[in-house]
Amino acid sequence: MVISEIFKSIQGESTYAGLPCIFVRLTGCNLRCRWCDTAYAFHGGTARSVESVLEEVRQLACGNEGEGEIRLVEITGGEPLLQPEASTLAEELLANGYKVLVETSGERYVGELPREVVKIVDVKCPDSGEGGTFDMANLEALDGKDEIKFVIASRRDYEFARDFTAEHRLVGRVRQVLFSPVTPDPEGTWPGLDARALADALAQLSAEAAARIAMGAAARAMAVERFSMASMARRTVELYRACLQTGASAKAAKG
Ligand code: SF4
Repeated sequence: MVISEIFKSIQGESTYAGLPCIFVRLTGCNLRCRWCDTAYAFHGGTARSVESVLEEVRQLACGNEGEGEIRLVEITGGEPLLQPEASTLAEELLANGYKVLVETSGERYVGELPREVVKIVDVKCPDSGEGGTFDMANLEALDGKDEIKFVIASRRDYEFARDFTAEHRLVGRVRQVLFSPVTPDPEGTWPGLDARALADALAQLSAEAAARIAMGAAARAMAVERFSMASMARRTVELYRACLQTGASAKAAKG
């Protein structure tokens, strides 16, 4: 396999952000997102065996004396799933007791990876320049430990992410749906998205969802009330009939 770099750092993305992690970056990508910050991984790299990658991960994971052993490894790129050995590497890491994350563009099918791998899958938004590349078969290959990520550069991207999430019922399908703002390029090649504007839009979406839930609950409560009133009316009719019958029987007995 062709490796761009292997290093130890703090995870900066997904719900694993903040945890110490070993990163294995594979060389090559078939997409060209406008805001890509790892273009250096498109070419070059070093040919390595899976065993030698595993050995380097083991050495980095052990760390220095007094440091805990790192058990989290992310296979990333570039696009790691362009190399078939990515799956073999994931299997070997799992067999050695590591928790394995695979970060992918979403353009490749993730269903060939071992089930235990946590898949962190992008859905490219229109302003990445790579919109429409998501492999829809991935939706069925993901489960409750996986995450879907939208990297958002504009209002248009936000609206795409919001609608895609609703249309494909992503909430509940995966562990987390992530809306990440594009961070500005330090060299000014692309602008970033104001994280506050994205947070405001998400807060408004939550408020609308909460209002919809509250309206749903009110409608359900009214339905329950209507049901109880109907039951009461039925019960009254039954009692009335029973009274009439009792009256008729009493008359007959007297008569
Ligand atoms: S898929 Fe990832 S590595 Fe490839 S161009 Fe897009 S951001 Fe860069």
